[in-house]
Amino acid sequence: MSCARLFKKMSNLNELTIAEASKKLASGEVTSVALTQECLDAIAQRNGELNAYLEVFDDALAQAKIADERRAKGESHPLLGIPLAIKDNILIEGKRASAASKILENYVATYDATAIAKLKEAGAVFLGRTNMDEFAMGGSNENSAFGPARNPHDVSRVPGGSSGGSASATAGHLALGALGTDTGGSVREPAAFCGVVGLKPTYGAVSRSGIIAMGSSLDQVGPFGKTVEDAELLFNAIKGRDALDSTSIDASDPVSNEKVIGVPRALFQKGIDPDVLERFEAALKNLEGKGYQIIDVELPSAPLALAAYYVIMPAEASSNLARFDGVRYGLALKGRDLIDDYATTRGQGFGPEVRRRIMLGTYVLSAGYYDAYYGKALGVRDLLRRELDAALGKAAVIATPTVPFPAWKIGEKSDPLSVYLADIFTVTANLTGNPALSVPMGTVEREGASLPVGIQFTAPHGAEQTLFVVGKDAQESR
Ligand code: GLN
Repeated sequence: MSCARLFKKMSNLNELTIAEASKKLASGEVTSVALTQECLDAIAQRNGELNAYLEVFDDALAQAKIADERRAKGESHPLLGIPLAIKDNILIEGKRASAASKILENYVATYDATAIAKLKEAGAVFLGRTNMDEFAMGGSNENSAFGPARNPHDVSRVPGGSSGGSASATAGHLALGALGTDTGGSVREPAAFCGVVGLKPTYGAVSRSGIIAMGSSLDQVGPFGKTVEDAELLFNAIKGRDALDSTSIDASDPVSNEKVIGVPRALFQKGIDPDVLERFEAALKNLEGKGYQIIDVELPSAPLALAAYYVIMPAEASSNLARFDGVRYGLALKGRDLIDDYATTRGQGFGPEVRRRIMLGTYVLSAGYYDAYYGKALGVRDLLRRELDAALGKAAVIATPTVPFPAWKIGEKSDPLSVYLADIFTVTANLTGNPALSVPMGTVEREGASLPVGIQFTAPHGAEQTLFVVGKDAQESR
């Protein structure tokens, strides 16, 4: 091996955290072009296997060059020149955004999502768009119209979903960090399965403008990082009130100085993998060692959260997806008449899981069923809000495992309900709007592979800073 190659191998710039790379960029030790090139090399080497990116942008190096020029002119920002991966449902002007669906396969975004505009302002580099479950519907990335992304820790397994490509890219060092979206767990679950950090911000903390909507009252853009610090850097760059999203807010509560963690142990009686529970208890012990007090809290309605989510989410998704009619966006197929144009385009353009949810959502919103299903689910949502508020009156954060089990094998779960069960601990934060963070809590062994699992912390609305403090303490103990 030549000296230059050896040096390159040892430098592994793509394996740096954002914080580390940021320091090296600021000191002039590395350039964004070099950093981006190493990510592109890693992508060339590994994306064939991981299928994390659906497209790698051909202007990534040109973006990096501009970032280097901006720095040379005196600009500085922690994300200036940092190469990132972006989920395929977040619009970047002039780039395709397909939501991993055939119906939008050739759709080119006409404007930037606000989160993207903010990252551009900061000077981040976009490497490409990442694989996901079609329209963010799924928990394993197996619902992508373009084949599943894979877990870098064991490529026979799912990376989690729906932001599986973003998690796989971050964990596999094909990007320094990434953006995903989380409607019921889609940032936290793949973060847990891939051994990285994922944040679902407070509802409204990040603008939803330019996000291909799934469930509008649940959706949030969220960052992936190799560390809590990286997720924090990304969150700080994309958050804030935005005139283009009337639900957006400036939420930034001071850090809670109460070191109390509430654990709803009554929820762990069945359905949790014993190894995951063991890792969870060990993580809590470590936190105890750092001065945290662990208390029991009750969330009596939490067992109903999954059912409420799988009524409210399809109801909202069915309305949001009505816009894909073959006239305004993407695929347009001809039928016998206009109605048949719609039916043919939607029948062929949407995959099976998306069609299932549109039917479910239309059903629960129809006259006669609205009160029985949708109305009841809204009632549960209200109860959850009150119970979580009460629990967070006693503790600074609530802790649970992020997912009750580790990543499964691709193709192992054929029944959609068994995939929905993976969301048991994540959907509550979306229904209540609270911020929640998944942090790696070690690994469990399965068939010779070490599979990462995650611990989830949920905080009061606007208390992301508290999550970062607790998350760093949990992370340091690993
Ligand atoms: N797994 C959940 C679902 O299938 C969550 C999806 C999401 O957060 N986008 O709905």
